[in-house]
Amino acid sequence: MDPRQNLKDYYYILGVSPEATREEIEEAFRLLSDKFGPHVTLRNEDPETMEKTYREICDAWEVLSDPTSRQQYDKNNLPLVQKSQLRSLWGKFTGSNDEDLKTKDSVSDLRIPLEISLKEAIKGTNKQIKLEDTLACQQCFRKKPVERAKCGSCFGSGMIRNERTETIVLPPGSYPQMELRLAGKGKFDTRVQKHGDLLVEIQIQPHPFFAVLGRDITCTVPVTVTEAVLGGEIDIPTASGRVVMKIQPLTQHGRVYRLKGLGIAGADLLVTVEVSLPLQISGDELTLFRKLHESSTQGNPRSEIFAKLSRLNQDKTEI
Ligand SMILES: [Zn+2]
Repeated sequence: MDPRQNLKDYYYILGVSPEATREEIEEAFRLLSDKFGPHVTLRNEDPETMEKTYREICDAWEVLSDPTSRQQYDKNNLPLVQKSQLRSLWGKFTGSNDEDLKTKDSVSDLRIPLEISLKEAIKGTNKQIKLEDTLACQQCFRKKPVERAKCGSCFGSGMIRNERTETIVLPPGSYPQMELRLAGKGKFDTRVQKHGDLLVEIQIQPHPFFAVLGRDITCTVPVTVTEAVLGGEIDIPTASGRVVMKIQPLTQHGRVYRLKGLGIAGADLLVTVEVSLPLQISGDELTLFRKLHESSTQGNPRSEIFAKLSRLNQDKTEI
């Protein structure tokens, strides 16, 4: 086996060409440190792989940043690895391709989802969340890998984990996709020695009866046939308790009533009326329904459909 296969291709690791200038190498190292450095905690990423990647980046930088060591390294004439492999490697960690490395997004901002109940959304709440920072080990950061391996603080990983609890104060009126920005509560950025921002995205737990549409709350309530025909007052549940709602005579199935101010933060409650037929009826009721049917003035409610179809046929248009 060729012993050179065990050697790392440092140009490949930094994603630069072997002809790259010192400045290009430095820029690549800086961008990669931003992505994989100890100050970065990417969700769903394996910390060990992240650490391994970061150490490779540091090793590559150490060799290529120094003209003498770079010259020596170049003499080994290592085979270059396919760039597409590098791209997939980066994509695996960052969910992006290497083009994204050029954009300088705020790497120390941390975005997290926060699920709350509908009640908490309406009334407000305080939520405690646990966050973990990966800080650079101050004992050995910027030291050579050989010295770093002997570090008693981080045992050579170059990173220290630090757990903290943050309290998120939610005022009344949180709604889905609402984003709270908590300045200085995000990831720790070792370059500037301060935290980025914490971005909290609100999600509302499904409720068995109410749904949330933006800031409006929606629900469906059943009414009897007679209530729908005669109209009147019906009691309905709202997020803040039972209220009486007026429905118009001849309220059609599926009609939506808007109740102002009963949604989130002064938005509305949208009540869809659903006509519910009886599951059982008495003999008296059946007699009345038969009478009603015989004396009905409504006519055939399907006649409009047939009229339309007939017009289409005259136009010699198929269904
Ligand atoms: Zn250390």
